[in-house]
Amino acid sequence: MTFLSKRINNLSESQTIKMAKLGRELSAKGIDVINLSFGEPDFFTPEFVKEAAKTAVDENYSYYTPVSGYPELRKAIAEKLLRENGLNYSFDQIVVSTGAKQSLANAVMCLVNPGEEVIVPTPYWVSYSEMIKLAEGETVFINATVENNFKITGAQLEAAITPKTKVFMFSSPCNPTGSVYSKEELADLVAVFEKYPNIYIISDEIYEHINFVGKHASIAEFDSIKDRVVLINGFSKSYAMTGWRVGYMAANKELSNACDKMQGQITSGTSSIAQRAALAAYQGGLETVNAMVQEFKSRRDIVYALLTEIPNIKVNLPDGAFYFFPEVKAYFGTSTGDYKISNAEDLCLYLLNEAHVSTVTGEAFGNEDCIRISYAAAEDKLRDAVSRIKAALEKLS
Ligand code: PLP
Repeated sequence: MTFLSKRINNLSESQTIKMAKLGRELSAKGIDVINLSFGEPDFFTPEFVKEAAKTAVDENYSYYTPVSGYPELRKAIAEKLLRENGLNYSFDQIVVSTGAKQSLANAVMCLVNPGEEVIVPTPYWVSYSEMIKLAEGETVFINATVENNFKITGAQLEAAITPKTKVFMFSSPCNPTGSVYSKEELADLVAVFEKYPNIYIISDEIYEHINFVGKHASIAEFDSIKDRVVLINGFSKSYAMTGWRVGYMAANKELSNACDKMQGQITSGTSSIAQRAALAAYQGGLETVNAMVQEFKSRRDIVYALLTEIPNIKVNLPDGAFYFFPEVKAYFGTSTGDYKISNAEDLCLYLLNEAHVSTVTGEAFGNEDCIRISYAAAEDKLRDAVSRIKAALEKLS
């Protein structure tokens, strides 16, 4: 018997955090580990954003903030959504939170009743299934595979809908696959949602700017369903601000009010200093963002060329984010020395211990045949890492 609640006992440990921890343990022993398990840009927060935070400290932005965020930040977000995405939201439809993660959790908690179903295309971001569990909802997965660039179709979506379906939840650009839905592909899904007016859509757009195929398309651009879309975004990825903890949602007024109420009882408004920094980020333009994206694109091309030289892995060219999600199942059932590879987790542990490269098992993202490799690392590290992976895989038979 444990004194801990069933709620916490049912929750899975984050695999990304676990692999990063194992990697750090090896590093502490003096081993040169290349960490490709991280989900954050390896860039510094832009200088002008840091300056705004310093000014905020000096100007005594040190009091509790409004639960949904400073009005000037919410207005800047509404302006950004209009300027960059052509989306009309009033500032009181925006709720600023402690990272996009809290925005997602708020939305799930405010929408899902026990027993209601949430459709999630796999592979999906690790925390979706756990948030749904906390809300006592049921997750219904739709499997997308490397053959279709890890994207689902309207027909697959419709087949998963039942009378209990309450929410559809996805990310584009996607973590862990880097897949990006085009406007046409979104239209295919929207045609289904138009037939089911009670389904809400949580659209996680945190990787919006890290998109190598042109302009980001948001499902909220479709007027017929916009009122049911919960748009999630934030500053962590685009502005290399993971530690600052600022994200937001834009939704219909009733849901925004509900999320304000939820957040008001759990965390209150996020950090005053971080909010002032986020305001500067949105007022400062996209120059630093674009430079970072160019660098990610060049790394993607390098890593793709190197990964495709490895004969037994199947990899697609991701259109966004900063991850590869290669299928590695050809190695299941192989061995070398004391290592026996039965699944993706075994392979990740083997790559960590043998090649000293940290990756994450695809199981954490709902796909047992793949592993996630982040390319948020310098080019020389990436070249070294892939050649170590290749050498380690060659030993398996
Ligand atoms: N959504 C996706 C798809 C992510 O990959 C992440 C972070 O890794 C988040 C949301 C959370 O973002 P934040 O750091 O703003 O909470």
